[in-house]
Amino acid sequence: MREARPCTFPAVPATLMDGKALAARVRGEVADDVRELGRPVGLATVLVGEDPASAIYVRRKREACAEVGIESFHHEPPASISEDELLALVHELNADERVTGILVQLPLPDHVDEGRIIQAIAPVKDVDGFHPANAGMLTQGRPTLVAATPSGIMEMLRAYEVGLEGARAVVVGRSNIVGKPIALLLLAESATVSIAHSRTRDLPGLTREADVLVAAVGRAGMITKDMVRPGATVVDVGINRVESGVVGDVAPDVAEVAGLLSPVPGGVGPMTIASLLRNTVKAARYQSGALAFPLG
Ligand code: NAP
Repeated sequence: MREARPCTFPAVPATLMDGKALAARVRGEVADDVRELGRPVGLATVLVGEDPASAIYVRRKREACAEVGIESFHHEPPASISEDELLALVHELNADERVTGILVQLPLPDHVDEGRIIQAIAPVKDVDGFHPANAGMLTQGRPTLVAATPSGIMEMLRAYEVGLEGARAVVVGRSNIVGKPIALLLLAESATVSIAHSRTRDLPGLTREADVLVAAVGRAGMITKDMVRPGATVVDVGINRVESGVVGDVAPDVAEVAGLLSPVPGGVGPMTIASLLRNTVKAARYQSGALAFPLG
């Protein structure tokens, strides 16, 4: 098990956690699982409107499905779709036996209540793990379909043998899709977890205590070198579009002090997609009865 590295001088650059390579391995495992299932597995993707970033994410998810033998059913309603029309689409997908998993790409237009749409997805098809029933199971320590980004992060930490039991973990960000679920997963591994957010006092003081630091904010380079304990494992979830391309929430010079660091791009992003595929197979097992789904 990997302990936090002691501070050395001269500084040893962080080992980069290769999410791209790890995700390729996971996709290979999922492809085997899909073959073994012996029944078609399908993911419905719903992309509302024309947000270019969302379009890229959905395209990547569909490409990954094709690679592992999961059929994708794509829906692209206009941004003007009403909440009721979108609900009707979700109900249609719930009833469609070819559809194993349903993914409604967020964010949705302002006139649509995201919570209502997510709640309309059948929990057993909720491969994003955002439905309150699945999120609630996670809070009770009985995970079902768990949000893909936090699941992918945990798989990456396991692959790099990051010791979590008793470790001090700090999660910056408290969203329902990343911050809260990753905090719960770290807690389930017996880390001592703090969740920071925009009102946190003395954020650098808190982050410097972390053996494992997860940045899920959406502010380019906001975690700087002086905020990181030497040898810490730093997970960068942020995706920020700047002039030079896509960067994370972690500043480049953090690599001078961190022990392990997930790069952007090539870290959490590919693991998120791989975990979505894993969830889709898990949903298929729930639906076939091979796994018992505790939510009825
Ligand atoms: P979000 O819903 O906007 O949440 C951002 C969180 O950051 C909030 O809890 C906010 O605090 C906190 N925050 C904002 N400014 C802060 C500050 N100055 N100090 C401390 N905390 C601050 O975002 P999200 O959906 O969790 O996503 C976070 C980032 O991860 C984004 O860049 C997103 O694109 C990226 N992401 C990546 C993947 C992937 O696959 N790689 C997946 C999902 C998201 P308050 O709650 O107090 O406002």
